[in-house]
Amino acid sequence: MNDIQCEVLVVGAGPAGSAAAHRAAVAGRDVLLLDMQDFPRDKTCGDGLTPRAVHALEALGAGDLVAPAAGRPEIRGLKLHGFGGSVTAPWPDHPEFPARGTAVARTDLDNALVDLAVASGARRLTAKAVDVETDLVAGARRVRAVRLADGSAVHCRYLVLAEGVRSGLARTLGLQWLRGLVHGVAARSYCPSPHSDEPWIHSHLELRDADGVAQPGYGWIFPLGADGEHGPAVNLGCGALSTSRRPAKVNVRRLLASYAAQCEEEWGLGAPTHVASALLPMGGAVTRVSGVNWAAVGDTAALVNPLNGEGIDYALESGVDLVDMLAAADGTSDGLRYIWPEHLRARYGDAFSLARRAATLLTMPGLLSAVGPLGMRGPVADGLMGSAARLMGNLVTPEDRDLTARLWLGAGRLSSAHDRFWHAESRPLFGA
Ligand SMILES: Cc1cc2nc3c(=O)[nH]c(=O)nc-3n(C[C@H](O)[C@H](O)[C@H](O)COP(=O)(O)OP(=O)(O)OC[C@H]3O[C@@H](n4cnc5c(N)ncnc54)[C@H](O)[C@@H]3O)c2cc1C
Repeated sequence: MNDIQCEVLVVGAGPAGSAAAHRAAVAGRDVLLLDMQDFPRDKTCGDGLTPRAVHALEALGAGDLVAPAAGRPEIRGLKLHGFGGSVTAPWPDHPEFPARGTAVARTDLDNALVDLAVASGARRLTAKAVDVETDLVAGARRVRAVRLADGSAVHCRYLVLAEGVRSGLARTLGLQWLRGLVHGVAARSYCPSPHSDEPWIHSHLELRDADGVAQPGYGWIFPLGADGEHGPAVNLGCGALSTSRRPAKVNVRRLLASYAAQCEEEWGLGAPTHVASALLPMGGAVTRVSGVNWAAVGDTAALVNPLNGEGIDYALESGVDLVDMLAAADGTSDGLRYIWPEHLRARYGDAFSLARRAATLLTMPGLLSAVGPLGMRGPVADGLMGSAARLMGNLVTPEDRDLTARLWLGAGRLSSAHDRFWHAESRPLFGA
């Protein structure tokens, strides 16, 4: 293959990469969207789209994918189960985010987003990127080209790294995943079910193995509707949170099998298929997310909410935001080097810091069993859990003035101030 030239090279055509490619093409930039897989392709995921993700898709111009008329289930919020209780937590009425979510199998969602980028003018190439070539220009290292598996090179002015959790090129450029901080390990499956149109996401906070022994982790069932590629089905999965001090000692695939067996009767489940597991980087637990003319987005920048494991919304948002920032980087000597981490800290720093802290607490043995019953069936359960869908889904904006939002935003500021001053480990989040 001959060498290729482009202005913006996007490596990875998941939601982050496609959003970036679409936005860059719409802005009139010459963009190449590269992925090593042919599309449609599967991606290990729960397929859940919260109001934040629906909003991000609508803002991108892909709202028709998740419109009620598209035959997708319309999800009203969460039903949380465990510790002898069940609590219903609807999505909040919010001026920015719609009060609905949905679930779309990633094979369909990601393929549609690639199509959107291509329709906007992005070029698409199936090839594996294997290396990065850099030049030292006026004391700063700049990406010159990306080397492909067939030996050819793509020369670019900007490189967007949307490689997902693999992050091979990003690591070559110095990005580091801080695995000591909280991260997730999760497995998903597709199960036929007559309840595929159930309008709630179900989350089970107390999981037991086949012998009834309590296991670290949580389970989910996301209804996928009747019309998707799996027919009437749900996405059933489970995950666990882990830190280097308290690694999750759990086999998530085995846990998924026993969770599916426990839900089989109530949900009329068929056997789980397409079982797959993966790691989830979370809460911005990475350093060095950008250089002069490159930057990481989506999972590569660990943009996953530690409280619910969702990252599609942050992938879309970060892809768009990065491209919008190119104009400010154009022609400056530092380019994206400082402004991208600064933007990520400003947009997600406080919320992710607080969520990381809460998620880390959940890795403490016995804590969830001690407080779970209070939250799920104590006298304050409904009041407390009324805000659960909003806070877990990060559906709070700095403009919100209600008491819950003020408390949450204030706690987030305190949490990231604490990170900055006391935790050397957390200090370099996003930046160098
Ligand atoms: C089990 C599980 C359940 C989850 N459930 C949810 C959920 O319900 N809702 C939610 O919002 N999020 C969920 N997430 C998180 C979500 O899947 C990710 O946050 C999201 O996919 C991130 O998108 P991305 O575009 O950054 O990366 P990806 O979607 O991973 O896309 C990366 C792309 O880069 C390509 N690529 C990588 N390296 C190269 C290379 N060297 N050359 C060329 N191409 C390359 C890959 O082929 C891939 O297509 C879940 C994750 C897991 C593991």
